[in-house]
Amino acid sequence: SSVFSAIEMAPRDPILGITEAFNADTNPAKINLGVGVYYDDNGKVPLLACVQKAEAILIEQAAPRTYLPIEGLATYDKAVQELVFGADSAVIQEKRAVTVQAIGGTGALKIGADFLQRFAPGAQVYISDPSWENHRALFESAGFKVNNYTYYDPSTAGVNFAGMLADLKAMPTGSVVLLHACCHNPTGADLNADQWGQIISVITANGLIPFLDMAYQGFGAGIAEDGAVVRRFADAGGPLLISNSFSKSFSLYGERVGALSVVASSAEEAARLLSQLKRVVRTNYSNPPVHGGKVVSTVLTTPELRQLWEDELAAMRVRIKEMRGALVAKLKEKAPSHDFEFVNKQVGMFSYSGLTKAQVDALRAESIYAVDTGRICVAALNSKNIDKVVDAIAKVL
Ligand code: PMP
Repeated sequence: SSVFSAIEMAPRDPILGITEAFNADTNPAKINLGVGVYYDDNGKVPLLACVQKAEAILIEQAAPRTYLPIEGLATYDKAVQELVFGADSAVIQEKRAVTVQAIGGTGALKIGADFLQRFAPGAQVYISDPSWENHRALFESAGFKVNNYTYYDPSTAGVNFAGMLADLKAMPTGSVVLLHACCHNPTGADLNADQWGQIISVITANGLIPFLDMAYQGFGAGIAEDGAVVRRFADAGGPLLISNSFSKSFSLYGERVGALSVVASSAEEAARLLSQLKRVVRTNYSNPPVHGGKVVSTVLTTPELRQLWEDELAAMRVRIKEMRGALVAKLKEKAPSHDFEFVNKQVGMFSYSGLTKAQVDALRAESIYAVDTGRICVAALNSKNIDKVVDAIAKVL
């Protein structure tokens, strides 16, 4: 027997498990609503035209693949800052924000978690109940105790705001609060502008450390509208961490493009933070990959491509909203005794549909796959599959 012989099987990832079951299903009409990916109306993951044009430029340049700096491509980091904070942001002008290119949003969260573990090792970490399932695992693996704060209210399919605020007020000073900047995954329930204001006040008054995870900028109300939350936190002063991802907004899932930004209280402090963030990156993977960062920075900094991206992202956002509307309208017809109007109020790619585990199992018998919690990916619905989905939901209700 070796050191490996007693190793136990790790638990399966619940969402990847759905994909495995889906792949094994031989029904040609099968539908996977369990994913976290945007599909177009033909059921395909799009390759955006802005990305193709940027790649054509990059191929033309035929640049050698040298190592990037530890913090990533400078043009990328700058473009990310302007996107996330707004180009005229005080934290950029005062050089109080530092940004490192990361391996997707996940990599950004991991760098942030490792960084916090070095400089706030005893802090409690709080994530929403429920949250993206990797949040807990990421912070636990960085050495933190991870707690939940009240978030979703199944009775309204919205946020239990009073409960959330009370939980925030009870957190010890110095706690890290992970917040979804927009398009909450998995529920689709977001805070409104007034509620955000109250959250910011409590966080500031109680000396909590906000960590905003923004994986869906542009899928809510718009690029600037969704980013407004980040700007409000930045205006309230540091400390603040933001992880952002281009997996969804550029449909660049496999290129692993994201960033971690940290707001400090002075330019001098920011320089020290950056030096430490670089140390975290250096000891994990040395420096980030070139291609995705170049594609995104080329698009963001080339006016025609930037416009094209904004239009393509708007089209994705609008199509998801249309699918929400169609789902609600069709369910009203097929299942008139059930009210699904809340689906129109939810934001982003997901909906907590209210379907129970038993109903999700029953849907699976119809070759329609959803998450056990009832989470469905609205971005996986299209004009060809929606009637089948509605008929099946009406049947299992
Ligand atoms: N945060 C949230 C809330 C997410 O939903 C996701 C992706 N599903 C991520 C972070 C990670 O993004 P990436 O795929 O870029 O690592």
